[in-house]
Amino acid sequence: MERKEDERLCIMIIPHRDRVRKFSIPSWLPKVLSIAMATILLLLSLFINNLHSSYQSLKEKYNIKSAEVNALKIENNKKNVQIINLKSQGDKLQEKAAEIDHKLMEIDKLQRELEKIAGMQNPSRGGVLSEAQNLQDVESTDEVRILLDTLELKEVELKNFIEDIEARLEYLETVPDLWPANGRLTSKFGMRQNPFGRGKDFHSGIDIANSRGTDIVASAKGIVIFSGYKRGYGRTVIIDHENGYKTLYAHNSEILVSTGDRVEKGDLIAKMGSTGRSTGSHLHFEIHKNDEPIDPLSILK
Ligand SMILES: [Zn+2]
Repeated sequence: MERKEDERLCIMIIPHRDRVRKFSIPSWLPKVLSIAMATILLLLSLFINNLHSSYQSLKEKYNIKSAEVNALKIENNKKNVQIINLKSQGDKLQEKAAEIDHKLMEIDKLQRELEKIAGMQNPSRGGVLSEAQNLQDVESTDEVRILLDTLELKEVELKNFIEDIEARLEYLETVPDLWPANGRLTSKFGMRQNPFGRGKDFHSGIDIANSRGTDIVASAKGIVIFSGYKRGYGRTVIIDHENGYKTLYAHNSEILVSTGDRVEKGDLIAKMGSTGRSTGSHLHFEIHKNDEPIDPLSILK
């Protein structure tokens, strides 16, 4: 294509108030400008595209990282839950330890009671307290599990032990070992001089002397199987303790229970007197084991 020197374009700018301005530009300039513009636009669009894809890849990377972070967060939460569980297990262990401690105290109390009443031996027991005291040192879940199992086992042992003791105490309530009245022991169990003067006779109980109207109490828990007048014995009460033992309370001035009444150890059942074959105000007290009279002093505490 042949170019002509004088082929120029004239651009006029006509303002409202000022004078007209005139520019002369080469005729090829608009084409060149258009091409340059198109090129710039193309480059710009390429650049934006590139930027966009970079942004996309960054976004993907971010998403991946974000997912990783979320996974880590979930993992961390799991760990936290595990830690909380472990801690609450620890708290539960502490509670159990306190419960067992409390039970041991109860047992000690019962044991003292038993030692007093029955002269029972101390049953052996495990090192529950020392285990409980070491709880704060426990770190692994396995150890916690083992300790929990051990403590549960000990708890069952202690529960059984307490039940045994309760049963034993319940039984002791039915053993006639409580003195039935205050007073002087004026006659023992066995062969003795007849108080009415004719040779020797067998005394099947003990005599406790005190003033008329002194309280007579049940020597143990049981059921009244006789309440009334008995020849020689006067006003008499007999209690069956339902364990082979029976007790008899004779010469009373007054009887305060009826046949069929259930009485607890220490319940008031009569008033001392001298009814029947008696030389003065006293209680004639007998203990029978399997329907044979035995020496009350061998049982009374
Ligand atoms: Zn007597």
